[in-house]
Amino acid sequence: VQTCALPIYEVQCMNISKYGDKLRQTMKPIILPEQKERFEEYYTRKAFRIERNMAGIIIAMQACMILIFSFRKGGPFISPRRIGYFSLYSMLLIATSFFLTGYINLVKSGRFHSVIILRRVYTCILFIWCIGITMLEQFGGNTIGVYCYLIPTIAALLLMEPLESILFFSINWGVVVVLLVVSGVNQENLFGNIINGTFVTFLSVFISIRYNRSVEAEFRDREIISMQYKKIQKANDKLHEMAFTDQLTGLHNRRYLMEKILDHFEEYQNKDCYLEMIMVDIDYFKQYNDTYGHLEGDVCLKKIADILEEYEQIEGTAAIRYGGEEFLLVRISKQPGEESRMEEALMKHIDSANIPREDTPWKKVTVSIGIWKGNTRELEKGENAIRYADKALYCAKSSGRNCIYRYNQEEFCRE
Ligand code: GH3
Ligand code: MG
Ligand code: MG
Repeated sequence: VQTCALPIYEVQCMNISKYGDKLRQTMKPIILPEQKERFEEYYTRKAFRIERNMAGIIIAMQACMILIFSFRKGGPFISPRRIGYFSLYSMLLIATSFFLTGYINLVKSGRFHSVIILRRVYTCILFIWCIGITMLEQFGGNTIGVYCYLIPTIAALLLMEPLESILFFSINWGVVVVLLVVSGVNQENLFGNIINGTFVTFLSVFISIRYNRSVEAEFRDREIISMQYKKIQKANDKLHEMAFTDQLTGLHNRRYLMEKILDHFEEYQNKDCYLEMIMVDIDYFKQYNDTYGHLEGDVCLKKIADILEEYEQIEGTAAIRYGGEEFLLVRISKQPGEESRMEEALMKHIDSANIPREDTPWKKVTVSIGIWKGNTRELEKGENAIRYADKALYCAKSSGRNCIYRYNQEEFCRE
């Protein structure tokens, strides 16, 4: 027995704590505290039209009831019961009108937390109205039918937090029970009324909690999806950037040239754009690597790339690492590129950067530049501009390097 006692006790404890956990789980809000503000906005926007229309229907119904009571034989003030009904209808009509005006204004001005508070206050008024009508029905010897359909309706339509709904519905029902017993009216229906009312109250709490859970879960899922979407978007942007960027220099790469410039060449032709294709090649770079090592070679490439990158500030200009130690400055504009003299500025810029090397007559890193400039319509396709700039570069190399050559159809190359 002693050996069995412990496990049985443990199993019972586990069950109790399991139910406790489940209950705690049910009462725990699904959304995180930092999401609360966004949730209030989300729910208010989502429920705005329904709640506004509901308030309108309540106003219309109360007005109808007031009219009916006014034109009934004897008028609205013939008996204390009629005065009661008339007062309750009027109270709800006025309260709902105020609620509706405040509600619309608060939603329009984006004060969503105030909307929650206003909804709570209005819920209290609805409960008071329900209690009032239920008691008046009692004085007429009726059952609590009105209570039985109104309370679940409130539960299904007005969002409350789980604890809030338990509190609201049980206090409301508690008040009704006390009034039913204390008032002493309709005692023959008392037992049935209490049983039905208790059942309806439980049902309403259940409906309210389920409604709350489903709205909160819907919001949480939307947040998760939007967060994941943002993450994917960010990763995509990064991939996109990587796909078009040269890793060593950070300049655009050859794919960028192809997909972002040359693939759109026809559009530039249609818009009558001008093109400057400036091809830059470091002189005796293999020798530089052999003398200073490849790592120093990389540093040199980076320095030249940084200079080229500065020219991207000129509108329509892209700096591209075309190959190993070959770069392109590509400029597309509505103005002829003749006046820009970008290549000359670049040459001077690299010259004044004074990147040291002892193995050439200039005692610094130099480049040769080949260019093609003209209207895009002069070319059959964009690749031809590269071909011509390359030919001009060849001329620059063969005429001794550290100089600029411009492609010219008639003469083939021109300094
Ligand atoms: P030229 O004046 O005729 O242009 O002579 P060059 O030596 O610069 O030209 P060549 O085409 O013979 O050599 C280019 C060299 O560039 C060869 C290669 O080692 C070097 N290179 C290419 N890519 C890189 C790189 O990413 N890093 C380094 N350090 N060197 C590179
Ligand atoms: Mg070279
Ligand atoms: Mg080269």
